Amino acid sequence: MDSTAEIVVIGAGISGLATSWWLQSAGRKVTVIEAGPRAGGTIGTLQESGYLIETGPNSTLETSPLIGKLLDETGIAASRIYANPAAKNRYILRSGTLLALPLSPPAFLKTPLFSARAKLGLVRELFIGRSAPDGEESVAQFVSRRLGGEFLDYAINPFVAGVYAGDPELLSVRAAFPKLFEIEQRYGSLIRGQIKGAKERRRSGEVSKQAAPMLSFREGMQTLTDGIAARLDDLRLATRATAVARINGSGWEVGVSGPAGNETIRAEAVVIATPAAAAAQLVKPHAGIAAAALEQIPYPPVASVACAYARADVAHALDGFGFLVPKKEQRQILGTIFSSTLFPNRAPEGSVLLTTFVGGMRQPELARSDDAAIASLVQKELASLLGMRAPPQRLWVNRWERAIPQYTLGHLGRVFAIEEAERALPGLFFCANYLGGISVADCIKSSRAAAERVAEHLPKPKAHPRG
Ligand SMILES: Cc1cc2nc3c(=O)[nH]c(=O)nc-3n(C[C@H](O)[C@H](O)[C@H](O)COP(=O)(O)OP(=O)(O)OC[C@H]3O[C@@H](n4cnc5c(N)ncnc54)[C@H](O)[C@@H]3O)c2cc1C
Repeated sequence: MDSTAEIVVIGAGISGLATSWWLQSAGRKVTVIEAGPRAGGTIGTLQESGYLIETGPNSTLETSPLIGKLLDETGIAASRIYANPAAKNRYILRSGTLLALPLSPPAFLKTPLFSARAKLGLVRELFIGRSAPDGEESVAQFVSRRLGGEFLDYAINPFVAGVYAGDPELLSVRAAFPKLFEIEQRYGSLIRGQIKGAKERRRSGEVSKQAAPMLSFREGMQTLTDGIAARLDDLRLATRATAVARINGSGWEVGVSGPAGNETIRAEAVVIATPAAAAAQLVKPHAGIAAAALEQIPYPPVASVACAYARADVAHALDGFGFLVPKKEQRQILGTIFSSTLFPNRAPEGSVLLTTFVGGMRQPELARSDDAAIASLVQKELASLLGMRAPPQRLWVNRWERAIPQYTLGHLGRVFAIEEAERALPGLFFCANYLGGISVADCIKSSRAAAERVAEHLPKPKAHPRG
């Protein structure tokens, strides 16, 4: 049977859910189409035998007041929890030893993580000129030019692995870390910009990623997506969008395939909130250049491995967020989050839960090994780095064959092609983690902007806005 909606949102990850919420709460009639059996996309929480395991993101940073607004409006703010303040330490592996990242200038001067030469070299940063405003450098080129090779190897390389599961040689600094690029352009130095930028953020209410509180929920990250999904009027699960077509005159038709068979939904606007490859398939007949750009965005595989140990079997204090592994150290894991230190309620009394990431752009083949091989390499690495006295009591392997979009060199050109398609196809919009940032918080910020673009395109709503 065919139906009509004012707006169809395709994909119920955080990008599609949040866009749908902003539109619905402004009085719009929204139908959300999700191919999977549940909403949430990459966000997923498992609860088993007293353990709470995140299969995707473990937390996000509250970088914008929009996040609190979304939680308040959808009634889930009371379930929000902030990371344990004692979990501030972040360890980096150097020469086989986990060293805490320095958190203050005196700690920086003392840390063995960077050599005296690298530390002195930072003074030079104040005098290094800007890159060309229209040029495109990789993250590795930008960081080696400004901060030197040691900071690239032992600060930025592990950080990029932790955030993007990415490779700094391939990522575009302008696309992947636009704030860094902006700071250089505006202040001529990252150090100077750090100081001056703080004042501007205080005025705007935005919070820098370094200063933003880290949040999750008592029952895990899935509370966020379940909470929004529960408030949506028309969410159709296990239903795949198979085609979008323009209607002569105005509007769009979305072909969907679900439990009740095939159907066409007519809508005045369509928001595509799927990963890039699925978006490419949907827009190919209307926007070949944008479809090609979407197809070029690489998504490496990642395995996320949760390991439960008896506390007494772990020699390390686990007094922090976790640790990251620079490529130079030649290990088989990207890093580990001390999940049960970070948030309460992640492991039963007397046990700890650690979440380790394998694969990414650095070692995609490892994430594609079988479960037993992944489990074995993670156990071996954790035993050598954290001093395990016994094997884990439980272990869960979760895989993402296409985990995180990489904002590689040329990404801004691809974004431009996607934005051109939005301009050329009135009523068709894109919102997902390959635009505007990959973090859950960035997706929420992008969803608000997408909802505003949709609202501008449509006539004013007839219904009263509701929250
Ligand atoms: C292992 C891992 C760890 C991460 N850790 C963090 C972290 O700690 N903090 C953080 O902030 N971020 C983290 N991220 C990133 C963040 O989780 C994602 O970028 C974000 O959740 C993506 O949301 P999205 O809605 O854009 O896409 P998705 O979550 O991918 O949602 C897209 C949805 O579209 C649906 N879909 C696809 N095709 C169709 C179709 N044809 N019809 C209908 N539906 C369709 C899919 O089923 C899916 O539900 C992590 C990501 C991964 C993979």
